[in-house]
Amino acid sequence: MKQSTSFDDFISKVKDKKIMITSLRYAMLSFLYNSSSHPTVNAIFNDIKSKMPNTTLAAIYKNLSLFEREGFVLEFALLGEKHYDLMTESHDHFLCVSCKKIIDLPTSPDTPVDERFGVINYSTAFHVGICKECQNKEKI
Ligand SMILES: [Zn+2]
Ligand SMILES: [Zn+2]
Repeated sequence: MKQSTSFDDFISKVKDKKIMITSLRYAMLSFLYNSSSHPTVNAIFNDIKSKMPNTTLAAIYKNLSLFEREGFVLEFALLGEKHYDLMTESHDHFLCVSCKKIIDLPTSPDTPVDERFGVINYSTAFHVGICKECQNKEKI
């Protein structure tokens, strides 16, 4: 998602939760911040490993679950794979069942926000269908 929160602001929010920003954590958050593809664990691991060859998959998992627990990263399982997204601005998602692409959509301003159950910091809706590209491919 194109962010209006700067990466530095995001990092200071993480620090506010008393989470130490190790070089691995910084690299993971920066990869997620700059990615719009909702990477899987393996995509995150491959990117980090190319810059920090000693990184283990276990360390990636451990930090992802920490970020998730603290509300910085959203994990969603779709079509058998887990994807990760930074929880900065709320936005909706469109999932193409054909190419498995996940596209960010702006949250519709008339989405009813129901705060009966608590304060909402972040909200997302999933829309599932066939993307434009796949629709065009099918016509050929
Ligand atoms: Zn598609
Ligand atoms: Zn997203």
